[in-house]
Amino acid sequence: MARINPEFTDELKKYGAFDANACYNCGNCTAVCTLSTEENSFPRKMVRYSVLGLDDEIESSLDPWLCYYCGECSTTCPREADPGELMMSLRRWLISKYDWTGLSGLLYRSIAFSITAFLVLAALVIGFGAFKRFNVESVMHYGHLFEMAAISLVFLFILLPNIIHMWWLTVHKKGIKTPLSAYFTSLGELFVHMFTQKRTLGCDDNQVRWFEHFILVLGYLGLLFTTVFLDWFSTQSMFVIILGYVESAVIFVVTFDFVRRRIQKDKEISKHSHPSDWFFVIWLFLMGLTAFVVRIFIDTDILNNNIWIYLVHMIILVQWALLIVPFGKWTHFLYRSFAMYFEHILQKSMLNTKSSE
Ligand code: SF4
Ligand code: SF4
Repeated sequence: MARINPEFTDELKKYGAFDANACYNCGNCTAVCTLSTEENSFPRKMVRYSVLGLDDEIESSLDPWLCYYCGECSTTCPREADPGELMMSLRRWLISKYDWTGLSGLLYRSIAFSITAFLVLAALVIGFGAFKRFNVESVMHYGHLFEMAAISLVFLFILLPNIIHMWWLTVHKKGIKTPLSAYFTSLGELFVHMFTQKRTLGCDDNQVRWFEHFILVLGYLGLLFTTVFLDWFSTQSMFVIILGYVESAVIFVVTFDFVRRRIQKDKEISKHSHPSDWFFVIWLFLMGLTAFVVRIFIDTDILNNNIWIYLVHMIILVQWALLIVPFGKWTHFLYRSFAMYFEHILQKSMLNTKSSE
């Protein structure tokens, strides 16, 4: 029998705005949602599960990840129950469930905890700079080592176990027989969604947002590769230098537009901004901007007397790499892609089972 958690709607409010009691189950949201099918009443099923407190069902569902938050369901809801924001809140809640460290939940629920964590990391970077007597060469050397270590350690010890946990909850626990071959033949889905996020195009009026996300992903991954593997801050290669400038400019221009939209609240999807949404766009913006400025300081030979700009960049980078990437909104990029992958595997497995019956 399904377990009911009477506290669930209260718990969910800590992850975003939603008035569960406002929904009177009219079905308008399902009628407008392009993801809705005969078998899956989208997003109403998740709304009902939330109102009823069926958190085990939500935990094992991939539905919240399939929604790309076009906001049409919220616009048409006659009760202003905001089902689009509910799906967003469920994604935050799910991230906290997948995360074995428990830090995601703390960061999502407590702004005080988030600010403290950001300040502690800033103090550590400044302390390290002081320890190295603010020697540019030495600080930059360790900064580069940090980038390489952070990528591998965060992936190995945080993200990978969390993805396995997500698989356990959403695939394994369902008890559907999934042949090993399905994991290989569905791999294309994982990479296509990871790099193109093509599902966003399923919602009407989303082409501009899709394009911005697409070039942001390219700019972000490109800058990551250029700074970490091509050592952008130390290279003499003109091609790599210009490449890094272009990538960092793409990041801060696109994220500036994201920040502008969240401030203006001109679309349904920008109306609600959880602190984690602000951290994501502002930190990405600052990362692109400070990387750009650091490289200008290097090229104009004034970095030695202005190490502060590199320290500011490092503070942003360390907070990004140790808080936002493993525990914050960045994980949407990963979990959403894996959700598409797991969904494809489940569908294939169910088709196999039906055809062999
Ligand atoms: S969330 Fe709104 S549109 Fe959807 S069923 Fe409830 S009241 Fe109707
Ligand atoms: S935000 Fe868009 S995709 Fe998500 S549930 Fe609502 S209508 Fe469907």
